[in-house]
Amino acid sequence: MAWDDSADVVVVGFGAAGVATALTAARRGADVLVLERQAATAHTPSAKAAAAFVLTVTDVEQGARYLDRCAAGTTPYAVSRAWAALAADLEGWLREACPGITSAPGEGMHGVAAHADFDGADAVRTLQFTVPGSTGRPGAELFVALAESAGATGRVRVAWNHRGRRLVRDDAGRVAGLDCALPDGSVRRIRARRGVVLTTGGFENDQGLVRQYLRAAPMYFAGNPDNTGDGLRMAQAAGAGLWHMNGAEGRQVGRFDLGDGRWLAFQMALPPGGYVVLDGAGRRFCDEHRYTRIHTVWYELLAYDVGTHTYPRIPAYWVFDARRFTAGPLVSSMIGPVSMGLYTWSPDNTAELARGWISAGATATELGTALGMARPDAVDEAVADYNAGCAIGEDAFGRPASSLVPLQPPFYAVPLYPGGVGTMGGPEHDEHGRVLDPFGDPIGGLYSAGSVGQMIGDLYPAPGSGWSEALCAGRMAGAAAATGS
Ligand SMILES: Cc1cc2nc3c(=O)[nH]c(=O)nc-3n(C[C@H](O)[C@H](O)[C@H](O)COP(=O)(O)OP(=O)(O)OC[C@H]3O[C@@H](n4cnc5c(N)ncnc54)[C@H](O)[C@@H]3O)c2cc1C
Repeated sequence: MAWDDSADVVVVGFGAAGVATALTAARRGADVLVLERQAATAHTPSAKAAAAFVLTVTDVEQGARYLDRCAAGTTPYAVSRAWAALAADLEGWLREACPGITSAPGEGMHGVAAHADFDGADAVRTLQFTVPGSTGRPGAELFVALAESAGATGRVRVAWNHRGRRLVRDDAGRVAGLDCALPDGSVRRIRARRGVVLTTGGFENDQGLVRQYLRAAPMYFAGNPDNTGDGLRMAQAAGAGLWHMNGAEGRQVGRFDLGDGRWLAFQMALPPGGYVVLDGAGRRFCDEHRYTRIHTVWYELLAYDVGTHTYPRIPAYWVFDARRFTAGPLVSSMIGPVSMGLYTWSPDNTAELARGWISAGATATELGTALGMARPDAVDEAVADYNAGCAIGEDAFGRPASSLVPLQPPFYAVPLYPGGVGTMGGPEHDEHGRVLDPFGDPIGGLYSAGSVGQMIGDLYPAPGSGWSEALCAGRMAGAAAATGS
């Protein structure tokens, strides 16, 4: 076979998992080549969309039991335990890899386990990391610090504009390298002497795959537009078994037309108080306060109406008043497309109002008309009921009294879709990051880490699980691939 380049370990995808894999393999003496489909000047892994909350654990056995419970039988215990073991020293690993980095308890949503009633939950601790000289883009800055650390080993090269397409196997069936496509249409064949590690992120931005595997439609995601399931396809073609295909790191997102053929999804910042969320018929359906706090409340949007064969909560509508409109941008600058540099949201939301991304009405019924509801006055009824609850400090959906701020005209609304951060599903791997076939046997020379096929199987364990999973899985795969074991 003729090869255009070679390395001991070839890492496909340069995000959170890719950088941890590369750093780990290089530190173990491997010569590493990272292939990244994007250009260096337009590099937007979901890692850079993140807030750099990172899950750690204080006790390996308890942490393993908690992660295992969250996976609900979809991830082998040995894999959850291996994650917990690495999460236990993750703070130290990051401090050593990124000199000067600081950490603080992950405030904002909650800095602890999302499911406090599960066994082992007490062992979970979320930290938010900040690099020295931070300008408020924590995920992007953490990624750059790790990339510099990997570069400093002198053993890691990055080939930009190299899109991994197909794995190449030798006569014995072992993965020996891969073909990548370049922007000019040419193909380069890269040899991996010890292993190929797939770290291409999820399939969240391939609508065909989303329709096939996720639980409802449509669903949209606020991460890297180029995470389109390439690693999943490559692994499938090599005979990988799949896990967690119906899972997502879920939130509720707004999705908007940029007017140049592109659409972007954003995680909306609902607080401060003075809002409700309605379905397509103008009805409230849950305690909206929880939307701001946990990663599982998006399941509420998936309800299916068997009578009409529709998803009446897709989209749902976030309805708020001038108090929220004037309180600041409807999205956080710290995460998502803003943090990735893909869009600058106006400080007073007026540009987005002018673009038509935000609907408005002088009265609630007018807003219902602007939203195209069959019965626009249903919005008025929902707001009146909610306000009546605010007056007595009691909410029909159990919303805490502290969040019950009455709504006053004029009114605004943004459609909310289920989706969020990224998908979980893809090639299954063992506790060493080795990709397994459907019978549970490792596919020689093939490893994976991160959202291409996450260890998170069902419930999102706590804020910071995505980065933690990617870093710990990258460390597993990098260590194993460095020896080809
Ligand atoms: C808005 C938002 C906020 C978030 N906040 C947090 C948070 O605070 N804490 C947390 O833990 N997690 C957070 N996450 C999730 C976290 O960012 C992801 O779990 C993590 O980045 C996954 O890492 P990854 O390496 O698998 O994927 P990514 O970081 O997306 O990296 C994948 C890389 O692979 C490249 N690639 C794709 N296909 C190919 C191909 N064929 N060939 C070569 N390269 C390819 C992509 O371009 C990309 O650079 C957030 C995500 C989003 C979107």
